[in-house]
Amino acid sequence: MRTIIDGRAIAEKVYTELRGEIADLKSRGLTPGLAVVLVGDNPASRAYVRAKDKMCRELGLHSVKLELPATTKQEELLARVDKLNHDPAVHGVLVQSPPPPHIDEVAIIRALDPRKDVDGFHPLNVAKLAMGDNSGFVPCTPLGCLRLLRETNVSLSGANIVVLGRSMIVGKPMALLLMQKGVDATVTVVHSRTRNIGEVCRRADVIIAAIGQPHFVKADQVREGAVVIDVGINRVDDAGSERGYRLVGDVDFDSVVKKAGAITPVPGGVGPMTIAMLMANTVKACRMLNIL
Ligand code: NDP
Repeated sequence: MRTIIDGRAIAEKVYTELRGEIADLKSRGLTPGLAVVLVGDNPASRAYVRAKDKMCRELGLHSVKLELPATTKQEELLARVDKLNHDPAVHGVLVQSPPPPHIDEVAIIRALDPRKDVDGFHPLNVAKLAMGDNSGFVPCTPLGCLRLLRETNVSLSGANIVVLGRSMIVGKPMALLLMQKGVDATVTVVHSRTRNIGEVCRRADVIIAAIGQPHFVKADQVREGAVVIDVGINRVDDAGSERGYRLVGDVDFDSVVKKAGAITPVPGGVGPMTIAMLMANTVKACRMLNIL
């Protein structure tokens, strides 16, 4: 039997756990707070920021949504981040990516208080992940993928896992997380210079695709029974849809679903988990900042 991994249902499970933790924090007089800073008016970024704000409200978290014009200067943004770093009602801060081209994103990430860096992009948190130090923050999308695998009871110890993509947001932290002691997978990372990608993928017990190429992974690259996690969110033209486009993953779902033992759909797979893990990281930040 093939399993379609239901990211929405697993995210709901995470929210149920979080509601308990949030109630506990509130009983101690603490409300976890998340600040999301959006510079400019990229429609996709705007939609993500709206979704994060909505989820904070649903969970009863303190939510700060800061929308700044695309002309905002680097110094102004740094000053805003500094203010949020020092705001005791805010435990998590993120600046929605990508900022406009004149903004130095790396400098902004470095300016975040690493204890409030709930996206897990600050160098200190990257180092903690590499070192297996659980006091840091792990980027939300790979954390969500790991939770999906755990909830699906996929055996990871000693498994051959192929991660497609090596970005700092998904591929690289995903690989670090999977090779950690306690997870114990054998990880291969594929990127644009990798030779014989099909052959590499066919050896995998688990494939995690995060390359931003619609329908890149085809059935002939997947071993019968392998588990496939599709991180990709790509717009493809669709004259039949009201919006004129639809969202598809990096995996050719219709063909791969016939071979995979378990697979995530797009939408409804990894996407909902990313936001759930952001909420979980915010609650963790609140606990840690208050040493609970
Ligand atoms: P990036 O563009 O930052 O990285 C893409 C990676 O894929 C790079 O490492 C690149 O290799 C590699 N790559 C690109 N094309 C190929 C190819 N033809 N063959 C092999 N490797 C290739 O993307 P992100 O990591 O930010 O995002 C990846 C996808 O995941 C996107 O579709 C994005 O929308 C989605 N995403 C979804 C999220 C969610 O919540 N579900 C969250 C974040 C991202 P190289 O390094 O050599 O250039």
